[in-house]
Amino acid sequence: MRKKIVAGNWKMNMTKEEGQALISEVINMANDEVKSSTVLVLCPPAPHLGYAKKMFQSQSNVFLGAQNCHEKASGAYTGEISAPMLKSFEVDYVVLGHSERREYFKESDELLKAKTDQVLANQLIPIFCCGESLSQRQAGSGFIEFVCGQLTNSLFHLSAEQFAKVVIAYEPIWAIGTGLTASSEQAQEMHAALRKHIAAQYGEALAQEIPILYGGSAKPSNAPELFACPDVDGGLIGGASLKSRDFIDIAKAIK
Ligand code: PEP
Repeated sequence: MRKKIVAGNWKMNMTKEEGQALISEVINMANDEVKSSTVLVLCPPAPHLGYAKKMFQSQSNVFLGAQNCHEKASGAYTGEISAPMLKSFEVDYVVLGHSERREYFKESDELLKAKTDQVLANQLIPIFCCGESLSQRQAGSGFIEFVCGQLTNSLFHLSAEQFAKVVIAYEPIWAIGTGLTASSEQAQEMHAALRKHIAAQYGEALAQEIPILYGGSAKPSNAPELFACPDVDGGLIGGASLKSRDFIDIAKAIK
């Protein structure tokens, strides 16, 4: 049975007070309303990581995620955050390769390969983001191969044992923060193609174990249909993760 995960990417939002309020609301609602088998991952900006973990230490299904980390373990990289530091703050997951980082910070497949190695070497779980642009989607062909290629280039050097720890997030760039959502048919088509691509490299049994999340303007109204797709194992949620009610309602869409 694959893990079902709903992860909230706060991006560069929330002061300390706002973050504390959001986390306590999420914890209270999660206790009452979310199935204990649904894994919740909160990915606040780095300054929140220290206190956030303490707030949900006793929650068995709420985990802490970072939004990025550096590809080196330490050194003269002012302003950067390393995987060993994240581990020491009891972070569990690290989002890698978000399209905003690929676009604004020019993160390449090669760089993401090194970041993935760092994350895994520090016993953290990568949430590896992939997805096509609007123009690639509109071209009508080749976009599935492009997204599969992102996995090949950044992840397929991993051993099967390492790959088994990875979580994939398919995030069509045209759907992120735009209000446009992939239809459940579009999401299922890509998720199934990614799973097939993983199976060709690592075998069917391992491919069946890898959670593949959908991201891109997911909200309470569209989450039930998206999460009902056989190859969609939850979501990476941006805007809607900043509102406790919406985030929890999305998590409740996992059946
Ligand atoms: C994201 O940033 O990962 C994301 C999916 O954003 P949104 O839900 O706001 O589209």
